[in-house]
Amino acid sequence: MEIVPAVHMIEGISAHCYLIDGPELTLIDTGMPRKTKKILSYITNTLHKTPVDLKTILLTHCDIDHIGNARELRSITGATIAAHPLDADIIAGKKPRKTPRKTMEILFRMLGSILQVKPFPVDEILDNGDVIAGLTVIHLPGHTPGSIALYDPKRRVLFVGDSLGCKDGIVQGPPTSVTWDMEQVYTSLEKLRSLDFSVMLSGHGEPLTSNASAKVSQFITNIHKTKTT
Ligand SMILES: [Zn+2]
Repeated sequence: MEIVPAVHMIEGISAHCYLIDGPELTLIDTGMPRKTKKILSYITNTLHKTPVDLKTILLTHCDIDHIGNARELRSITGATIAAHPLDADIIAGKKPRKTPRKTMEILFRMLGSILQVKPFPVDEILDNGDVIAGLTVIHLPGHTPGSIALYDPKRRVLFVGDSLGCKDGIVQGPPTSVTWDMEQVYTSLEKLRSLDFSVMLSGHGEPLTSNASAKVSQFITNIHKTKTT
């Protein structure tokens, strides 16, 4: 589904992944494992491109429902995988995925082994302020230590991963049970206030397609209000 010109959401893959059909193809997140075919068929059947046109895979964070097909897609297309260094270490199996509750950590590990997601190294490291494939990297530690948002100033689109969501047109915070540090999320979100975007695309929920930056700013203001009352 094309959300704004050249920005596509591939449906039926959880978490959502997004394809930007620019001079090259760029994929943001890759969904749960075993969806590689679905992503490749979108490239060939909907965009009428070939798998090798996919040059860059950007991972907003380390969770299994975002990295699930990255390794396989890289081996088929030759694309470069990029992530923030703090989550790259988790993706590479050098550090554990931390959550507020030990039970959730165990669940993440079990899910990884059931779905046979092997750790893998990323090819490129993304730091705050870097620009890759026309997107500016914004480091938003909180949901995971290396969570990032990707900002497309030309199209006025913000890809937020799981740092924010949207349900029934209303901006939501990340799910608390799988969020490493909620206070950090709220501090990090302040970085989004200065950005001008009309569309926000998140890992779960629905696209927020109008006045997104104003709605996100309002959400952040409301959090601070509830914390001080
Ligand atoms: Zn997540």
